[in-house]
Amino acid sequence: MSGSLLKPARVRFAPSPTGHLHLGGARTALYDYLLARQTGGQFILRIEDTDRKRLVEGAEQEIMDGLRWLGLEYDEGPDVGGPFGPYRQSERKEIYQHYARQLVESGHAYYCFCSPDRLEQVRQEQQKKKEFVHYDGTCRKLDPDEAARWVATGEKHVVRFKMPKEGSTTVTDLLRGDITIENRNLDDYIIVKSDGLALYHLAAAVDDHLMQITHVFRGSEWLPTFPLHGLIHRSLGWEEPAWVHLSVFLKPSGKGKMSKREQADLMKDGYSIFVKDLQSLGYLPEAVNNWIALMGWSYDDRTEFFSLADLVEKFSLEKLNPSPAAINFTKFDHFNGLHIRSLAIDDLAKRIKPFFVERGLEPDDETLLKIAPIIQEHIGTLDEAVDFAGFFFAGGVTPAAEQLVAKGLSAAQSAEIAERALAILESLPDVCVETAEPPLRQLVEESGYSAGQVFGIMRMAITGQRVSPPLFETMEIIGRADVIFRMKAAVELLTNLPAAAE
Ligand code: GLU
Repeated sequence: MSGSLLKPARVRFAPSPTGHLHLGGARTALYDYLLARQTGGQFILRIEDTDRKRLVEGAEQEIMDGLRWLGLEYDEGPDVGGPFGPYRQSERKEIYQHYARQLVESGHAYYCFCSPDRLEQVRQEQQKKKEFVHYDGTCRKLDPDEAARWVATGEKHVVRFKMPKEGSTTVTDLLRGDITIENRNLDDYIIVKSDGLALYHLAAAVDDHLMQITHVFRGSEWLPTFPLHGLIHRSLGWEEPAWVHLSVFLKPSGKGKMSKREQADLMKDGYSIFVKDLQSLGYLPEAVNNWIALMGWSYDDRTEFFSLADLVEKFSLEKLNPSPAAINFTKFDHFNGLHIRSLAIDDLAKRIKPFFVERGLEPDDETLLKIAPIIQEHIGTLDEAVDFAGFFFAGGVTPAAEQLVAKGLSAAQSAEIAERALAILESLPDVCVETAEPPLRQLVEESGYSAGQVFGIMRMAITGQRVSPPLFETMEIIGRADVIFRMKAAVELLTNLPAAAE
């Protein structure tokens, strides 16, 4: 089933807007996107917002922004429209009611008038007897005509799917093969709630059919109700899509799923499972895609660097893996480094810019273009560009005098060497790598000190940091006048240190 042989796939990402877009959701969307693009089909965003109590303000927008940031442009969706809309389930109430009625009329579903109190009582009794908790079927036995009359008079009701009591149901997952369940172990699930809104089970089946979805990628938390979904399609006389329940993501230790508390701890270490956070932490969408693509899929046992275009070309359903995958942030850092180093310079310059702005600096494009190549090898996240190179835009540096003293040298020795370096710089008509490096290296030779000591003093004087981009390139960007100004200030600080004055 290699890509080119597959019919154009119609695949949907169907999140509920109940929280942040996380890595698990992003991976589902990525696989949807890859299959759609590879087969020349369509990638659809459908917002599953029928559970009004769990809605989170702004979550839908965050999902859309997150997908766009990841580069997973969808062809149809709430904000872009499409021929199968609306793409928000809350706007499709009547459509679901139509099919719920059809199921009732064909004897595959029934109206249930039991009150929540009664249901709670049933539940407690079953629990007491250590029975499988399920609806006891009271309304299943009602005469359908009478039940329909009650509904017509406005009696409060839900719609339940009528599970067959005998036999078994087999559904097929592309990754896991056939899954068979005894029907007596299945409940009469509610498919339309008393507010008239359909529940996921019915809404997703109806939408997948009407939207002509060919493949459903979703989380394996839907495996327990998977037979129900197969039965709903069959009861309505519809062909089922190909089902793929993806592997679970485990916390970094590999033990169990991520919890809220662990997410908070992660943030302290500069990591997160939420896409929005990864963006502000300075990760590249390319790295996120590369990393999560490999959490449930592999190409071979050697290749690990993939652009989104590579993934579109190489993705295949056969190489999906159902085993749980532990979230490995070390691997993620590694991918981020690889992708940062593969960016074109102007692209890197553009991407680091907002991180400087975020920290109150005013970076100019010309300087950013000069900085990008000298930091590209050294940063692990875009955010680190600011720690590393923020001084370029800080309008001067103010190291403390003590920080200018080189390790292993006295203040006087440090002052003397800084003075000699300053003299060399002053003798140059222009400070750039070619002109400054040879005489300063010669100074190291003659002084008998190490390059680390001599250049350490200069680095602190010029950048205000112990770690910085390469010194000579940095001086070239800062320019002769400023370099000399900063070196002079450093010499003065060092000479005035009590230890140096003695
Ligand atoms: N709304 C469901 C969820 O967020 C979607 C599952 C599916 O893709 O069918 O889990």
